[in-house]
Amino acid sequence: MSHVALVGLGNMGTPMSRRLVGAGSRVRGFDLAEAARERLRDVGGEPAATAAEAAAGATAIILMLPSSAVVESVFDELLAADAIGAQTLVVDMSSSEPTRTQALAERLADRGIAFADAPVSGGVRGAERGTLTIMLGARDADRERAHALLAPLGRVVDCGPVGAGHALKALNNLLSATHLWATSEAMHAGMRFGLDPEVMLAVFNGSSGRSGSTEGKWPSFVLPGTYDSGFGLRLMLKDMRIATGLAEQVGLPSRLGADAVELWAEAADALPADADHTRVAEWVASRREALAEVRDE
Ligand code: NAD
Repeated sequence: MSHVALVGLGNMGTPMSRRLVGAGSRVRGFDLAEAARERLRDVGGEPAATAAEAAAGATAIILMLPSSAVVESVFDELLAADAIGAQTLVVDMSSSEPTRTQALAERLADRGIAFADAPVSGGVRGAERGTLTIMLGARDADRERAHALLAPLGRVVDCGPVGAGHALKALNNLLSATHLWATSEAMHAGMRFGLDPEVMLAVFNGSSGRSGSTEGKWPSFVLPGTYDSGFGLRLMLKDMRIATGLAEQVGLPSRLGADAVELWAEAADALPADADHTRVAEWVASRREALAEVRDE
């Protein structure tokens, strides 16, 4: 029986594997971390010893990795091992860099390999529930197969040719990160004034100030103090840099985006390597206090 290979079994790859298994696919996966490979067994998949072993004989290969650099290194390994079959569809669901994705697609097309990008939004919860927004960039010839493969994971939106999904994903996260910073500044200012945070969110969510940060991140991860969205701060910063780089490439550098990158980079320097991205909401307040102390000295 043929199978789907999934390389990258982290916060997203594991629940996505569970969804695919639940939809009737056989999933063979690989991750560098042994603990992640064991988690795959728990969700009904079969761990492999290498990416090439996972990929051999697969009808589709899904990558859910940290960055373009890692995606490219995994491809080097798969190509060297001749592990990608002629009929296999390869889908990079990581949040990668659109121009590198286009270059990779050309390299693969030379070898007759079908490749699409399909990054996602909706977080770990969306991956668990199969409610991700999936931004598909694909050749017309690969679209139908990609839709059928990805349907158990969420809603597939056709974004355009290869690279379009990665471009849209980065721009989405630049907006999301900028909203979260702005929302956090407004929330802390209101609370310092004496406003009730629950009342503030209720009003924002019924008004023009609402966003994914007021509807989701603040009520779910910031106010309860859990900061456990499962999306790392550094991964968010990577996406913001991809988006501001894209804006520069097309001749429209983003001024607000550049400021947002600078602020998030400060938080990334100060917070632990594994900090959740929602920690930035807390950092916004402590950063201001630190700046005020410096001014008072
Ligand atoms: P993660 O860090 O939890 O998982 C990445 C996994 O890749 C890790 O388990 C790591 O061991 C593995 N890995 C690294 N190098 C590898 C290699 N060479 N071979 C095999 N495995 C390797 O990250 P995540 O949160 O699951 O995110 C994965 C991708 O999805 C990223 O591009 C991220 O930006 C994107 N994304 C994440 C979320 C989220 O909410 N977590 C949401 C949307 C998109």
